[in-house]
Amino acid sequence: MLVAKVGGRFHSLRTDIHLTGLRRVENLNERGIRVVRGDITTLDVDAVVNAANTTLLGGGGVDGAIHYAAGPELLEECRRLGGCPTGEARVTRGHALKARWVIHTVGPIWKGGNRGEAKLLAACYESSLKLAAEHQLKSIAFPAISTGAYAYPLKEATEIAIASVTNFTRQADVFDEILFCCYTGEDFAMYKKLLRAVKA
Ligand code: ADP
Repeated sequence: MLVAKVGGRFHSLRTDIHLTGLRRVENLNERGIRVVRGDITTLDVDAVVNAANTTLLGGGGVDGAIHYAAGPELLEECRRLGGCPTGEARVTRGHALKARWVIHTVGPIWKGGNRGEAKLLAACYESSLKLAAEHQLKSIAFPAISTGAYAYPLKEATEIAIASVTNFTRQADVFDEILFCCYTGEDFAMYKKLLRAVKA
């Protein structure tokens, strides 16, 4: 595994231990934001974010992977939540996942860009971070919300993800680590490129 670290005031040895098993890790910036490539269900973080749908009852993509890895208790807990509107977030336990918590958020379906998609996608990141902060969670990992089945263009979605997280940490610097977990090489390359631009 290749691990590239670029400074960082928050990081302890624990960081590298919980990232073992991921294929590549890059771009630690000054606020503990970094991008990793791999399967979000394997991460040993306080919370993984699930790109769920409004029912919160599971689906394909990362949602299916999280439910599969967390086990049936996650679905049971989700049933009690009664769904979640687009742009909002809900929290459950992580059950069989290494992550202690799952923050379920519902990204917008891309409909061309004039249906409030950008605001809703930003709201997903903000509401997830707000919920994590309220629960005193210190490390959180996001998938590339809405960029799979919901077809949000990758570059625009990545810009929103990075801007939302960066704005939040500027206002409330409560996290030790925020990971963008990319499943595909294309996503990983895009996050690396845009995170470097933020740092520059
Ligand atoms: P959405 O419906 O919000 O578009 P998807 O699950 O279809 O959600 O896709 C969101 C992103 O999650 C995509 O970039 C996809 O490649 C990624 N993804 C799928 N499985 C995993 C996984 N196990 N870990 C991390 N990311 C994943």
